[in-house]
Amino acid sequence: MKTGITHLYIPGPTNVPDDVRRAMNVPMQDMRAHDFGAQWLSLYADLKMVMRTTEGTAMLLPGSGTAAWEAAMTNTLNPGDRVLMARHGQFSMLWVEMAQRLGLDVIVVDVPWGQPTPVTEFARHLAADRAGEIKAVFATHNETATGVTSDIAAVRAAMDGAFHKALLFVDAVSSLGSIDVRMDDWGVDLLVAGSQKGLMCPAGLGVLGISPKAMEASKTATMRRAYFEFKDMVAMNAGGYFPYTPPTQLLHGMRAAMDRIKAEGLDNVLARHARLAEGVRRAVAAWGLQLVAEYPVNYSNTVSAIRVPADVDARDVIKIAYDRYATSLGSGLSQLAGKVFRIGHLGDLNEGMVLTALAVTEMALSEAGVNIRFGSGVAAAQAWFSTGRSAQTPAIAAE
Ligand SMILES: *Cc1c(COP(=O)(O)O)cnc(C)c1O
Repeated sequence: MKTGITHLYIPGPTNVPDDVRRAMNVPMQDMRAHDFGAQWLSLYADLKMVMRTTEGTAMLLPGSGTAAWEAAMTNTLNPGDRVLMARHGQFSMLWVEMAQRLGLDVIVVDVPWGQPTPVTEFARHLAADRAGEIKAVFATHNETATGVTSDIAAVRAAMDGAFHKALLFVDAVSSLGSIDVRMDDWGVDLLVAGSQKGLMCPAGLGVLGISPKAMEASKTATMRRAYFEFKDMVAMNAGGYFPYTPPTQLLHGMRAAMDRIKAEGLDNVLARHARLAEGVRRAVAAWGLQLVAEYPVNYSNTVSAIRVPADVDARDVIKIAYDRYATSLGSGLSQLAGKVFRIGHLGDLNEGMVLTALAVTEMALSEAGVNIRFGSGVAAAQAWFSTGRSAQTPAIAAE
């Protein structure tokens, strides 16, 4: 018999705020009613605000982020198109695998896990591609497996520097709504996200931002697609409708999540994530442990991947936290399994929740055999959260 709440510190699904959960508890609606569509138009407008695009189109697809990956590729590319991608973690690796399965000709740049999108190497490939055979460049904004945030503006600059016309695909699944994403400024053509990370909803909606250039490409692109056809979706979305039965509950949840982001203010949301992430990093440093992320400039504000000492199995840390303390930490994926655990610090989160994560992690680390001084990480985070408070964004904005 478990008492109390189970603490969720995985980088997705994240905690769904109560008002978002309640907003989904509504009766089924007639999805063809004359007044059904109008209620969703503001949802797309708000998603565009979060993506920081005025030119682009926001789209919601039944499915998870992976579905949005597939929709982005199949709608805008042709079979056998050459594309440029990097592998530097589990998610960028899976994205490459999907591109290969769908029949794209992928130039894969392998980078040690812990490093960001290899901009210099991308620039070299783009400069060498005088014939313009590379049709798309892919970048994972926040590699959730390693806690590494990449510089998408630099990827855009590399493309522009080579006068390259390729489409820019960006995976923002674990950054949108938590780390600044600037779709228009960065010239992102296909921005891919999902509902269950920074957007604080259950899984089930793929989120896409589509630039005018990508939308134009979709009119002639010949990869096979049916369910995710942009043309059908755009025609119905114009009035707030779907070409098939929409997951209405999730749309209500997303509506409530957008209301929360607007009430807090997007810039404050991003600042809160930066502040909470820094508290986690100070704890990790106090424990004497290392992040997977190699360079501070790439430290992720939504997830920290933390290495355990070589004689400890990170899976034990995760199991102890879960079994003894009803706390979920993220696991090490693929080559990081057993070596790494992750703390997800995104979405509906505050200082007290982070301190709980750190306190439980200290016990789990200690019981798994790591030499930890109890309270060391918690104290480091407390000091960061408390001192200089006035210079930081208030948790509750003045009315
Ligand atoms: C979670 C995640 C995905 C996969 O999204 P799903 O919603 O699980 O399909 C893709 N990329 C990144 C960076 C992620 O964090």
